[in-house]
Amino acid sequence: MSHNHSELADKFASNVERMKWHDKALWFVRVKRDTQAKSLDEWEELRNTADKIKSHTLSHLDEYLEQFEKNALARGIRVHWAKDAKEHNEIVLDLLRSHNAKMIVKSKSMLTEECHLNPYLEEHGIEVVDTDLGERIVQLRNEPPSHIVLPAIHLKKEDVGTTFEKFLNTQKGNSDPTYLTRAARAHLREKFVGADASMTGVNFAIAETGGIVVCTNEGNADLGASLPKLHIACMGIEKIIPRLKDLSIFTRLLARSATGQPVTTYTSHYHGAVEGGEMHVVIVDNGRSKILADKRYVKSLQCIRCGACLNTCPIYRRSGGYSYGYVIPGPIGSTLAPSRDLKKYYSLPFACSLCFSCSNICPVKVDLAEQLYLKRQDVVDAGYLSPIKLNALKMATWLMCRPKLMDFAGLMARKMVPILPRVLLYSKFNLWGKNRELPPFPKNSFKELYKAKKGIK
Ligand code: SF4
Repeated sequence: MSHNHSELADKFASNVERMKWHDKALWFVRVKRDTQAKSLDEWEELRNTADKIKSHTLSHLDEYLEQFEKNALARGIRVHWAKDAKEHNEIVLDLLRSHNAKMIVKSKSMLTEECHLNPYLEEHGIEVVDTDLGERIVQLRNEPPSHIVLPAIHLKKEDVGTTFEKFLNTQKGNSDPTYLTRAARAHLREKFVGADASMTGVNFAIAETGGIVVCTNEGNADLGASLPKLHIACMGIEKIIPRLKDLSIFTRLLARSATGQPVTTYTSHYHGAVEGGEMHVVIVDNGRSKILADKRYVKSLQCIRCGACLNTCPIYRRSGGYSYGYVIPGPIGSTLAPSRDLKKYYSLPFACSLCFSCSNICPVKVDLAEQLYLKRQDVVDAGYLSPIKLNALKMATWLMCRPKLMDFAGLMARKMVPILPRVLLYSKFNLWGKNRELPPFPKNSFKELYKAKKGIK
């Protein structure tokens, strides 16, 4: 069944108060990111270098993956290859069964969300405990993350208080963040100590060393990977970077772009198992090779999942993560999801105002807005666009190809719209008037203003 972003966005936006604080909370993170970016004179140089490293790596991906495997094996790390989500889940289950694991602690991993690992393991009798605080909150509520870095950003502290009351027996009505964090800490400590195995995601896998790097703010990956004897790390094929020295470029960009911090609190390097234990890395394709082969969309594989494009996106901020219906929301999700299934996710490339803020902010220069524009053309070519939208676009094209008529239409709009009765302007038939007030119309068109400024007659 096709997914309809605008219907779900409408649902989210119907709670105006929630929409406003969601928007504000994410904009706050975006502003923090700007402050950090501006604090580094070499910010643009870092972005250019990161872009070059990623693009070089993707064009030599086979070589770097093999180099990573060779070096990881030399360190005693066992490497597994999974062509899709099913194989990934089966490999993980086999490993857990071979260690008789009944409960695992897992740090944040969007890949395991993508593979729907939690329900799969639970169906097979294994308890999975997400240990990132935001992830644990949404897990207890049986909800998916609504943001790739801030999984519970759609919830208020009162929602967390009620959730903890129900599952962690906290005091009724107490939503004090410190109190709730301490309750979560005590709850998770028990889980860490009792876990039979741990799972982590991978932020960067270094081909040169055969080790992996995981960035967290809570130290949950470290504790999880240090206590049980079995550590399984899962990564998409695109997580490779060639050399250890490349890492500093990405760590400087990642935390600043994600949360506006100079660096994540923990940048943990795993280059082997704990004493007497085992470390496994599962390398997953799951559709990435298909994207790799398409030069229009290959740059989406450069993504380091910082979430900055979500925080800056005016659509994401006002429509919430669940309106995308895909594990990764926002601009990056809107290009990745249709690359997987265009028919199902054809509405996502239109969840975009083409303001280009995402392309301008991305630390690794993924050409997000350009990709979304191309994806729209794919949707039209595939015949998935609704006849109403298609005809509206045809009319707009017809009008825009006739400059004199376009000027006249603009003039009429500037004269007529301000005097139209409110009841007509904001009727249910005018979707553009929903939840927004039109700005005052200018007296002159852009063309007239431009000519006047440049002194063109
Ligand atoms: S596309 Fe760029 S901005 Fe968006 S999550 Fe990925 S790295 Fe961050």
